[in-house]
Amino acid sequence: MCGISAWFGENASEMTYEILLEIQHRGHDAAGIAFLRNGKLKIAGGSGFVWNAINPSKLDNKARLAIGHVRYSTSGSYAGIYQPVVGRNKKIILAFNGNIINFREAATIFLGKKNYVWDAKAFVDILEELYEEHGNLADAIRDISSILKGSYSLVAISSRGEILVARDPRGIRPLAYSLGDEYLAVSSETAGLSALGLGWKELERNNLIYCQELGSCSKEILGKTLDPAYCAFEYIYFLRPDSFFEGINAHEARKRMGSKLAEKDYVEADLVAPVPDSGRSAAIGYAIRRGLPLDEVIYRNRFSGRAFISAPTIRRKVLLKKFQVMKESVRDRKIILVDDSIVRGDTSRHLVRLLRNAGAKEVHLRSAAPPIVSPCFFGIDMPTREELIAYSKSIEEIRRYIGADTLIYNTVKDIKDSVGKPLCLGCFTSLYPIKIRVDMLEVLFSRGRR
Ligand code: SF4
Repeated sequence: MCGISAWFGENASEMTYEILLEIQHRGHDAAGIAFLRNGKLKIAGGSGFVWNAINPSKLDNKARLAIGHVRYSTSGSYAGIYQPVVGRNKKIILAFNGNIINFREAATIFLGKKNYVWDAKAFVDILEELYEEHGNLADAIRDISSILKGSYSLVAISSRGEILVARDPRGIRPLAYSLGDEYLAVSSETAGLSALGLGWKELERNNLIYCQELGSCSKEILGKTLDPAYCAFEYIYFLRPDSFFEGINAHEARKRMGSKLAEKDYVEADLVAPVPDSGRSAAIGYAIRRGLPLDEVIYRNRFSGRAFISAPTIRRKVLLKKFQVMKESVRDRKIILVDDSIVRGDTSRHLVRLLRNAGAKEVHLRSAAPPIVSPCFFGIDMPTREELIAYSKSIEEIRRYIGADTLIYNTVKDIKDSVGKPLCLGCFTSLYPIKIRVDMLEVLFSRGRR
């Protein structure tokens, strides 16, 4: 998963940076900002959190056009690369959230070249080629949209001072904007704009915004209309709780998911404990529905990163340091532990052990998400089936591996009912909105192993 931001207007670099800080949860492998200065496109970025990756002294505080990106790698290596990424002729710079699954095929069609290893680089080079042909960023993205397969919410700027904002025809990833008399602001999530005190709208799927000048921005249709498929995992895990996606607030949707879990649960318990922070909203919904006390018995160190989106080599270390249990609150208690999802099972196993070691009498694990049985190739880091515990194990086997007394998952129907929008549910059903060959894509997107 990644996050993007943009600003057209005064203090563009600074405002782009401020928005990135608000969507930092969408990736901390790397971050970058690109801006336009005297007709030249410049980039500042590096590895880690926004405040480590981007040196403010490298930004131009007079720039009026900037785009930004926080990276959580879903393709390419974990280390060393970041967006925004510049085209080969340095005419445009692109930042996008998603995955282009047929980037080699598209590069062959448009550039006669297929040896790309990173979808973002192929994407920007194709876009630039078409931009040079059409002289217009909106026509360039339109030209390529019928060929591209995958998900993309994007921002791009040109050396002539244009900006393009676009969301793919299925709308798999979210994208929001705020348009005032003197600015255009863009953020992957509505929270990135509301946190700065700005009003916002979500960019409808299959739409683009194109501006050559502030005050003359146009909103246009991108390409052929396709059935919507909003990522269910955004609602379950990724979005900030205060964000809206297709008009649905993430916190409220998660509370409904927790309530669904509670409806099918008759285990006796003393308290409900959320896995911080991503299980909190579902735990609230669960506790309300069952009339049980909610207690924050697990402390999460917010500065050690999100284990799920950390590179495998450091994931274990992050996990060990990240959680501490309040022993006094769990000793001799029967605990319902609510998490947003179980991907690899490592975090759940670790937490159940911590709770037992702290004296919990029973630990019952509840997952707001259904079992994840298939990888994601549309922007979330679950690249191979082998990494997913529910791909090869039954629910009973997972329960035993994790060490919980009982384990209950929500169903796909529970998620559909909780969100109430047309969803991509591919990682829960193996039925994707785009026809794909899972085995081939597992190889193509096996990051850190190439
Ligand atoms: S496969 Fe899963 S994670 Fe990927 S876009 Fe679909 S719902 Fe989201």
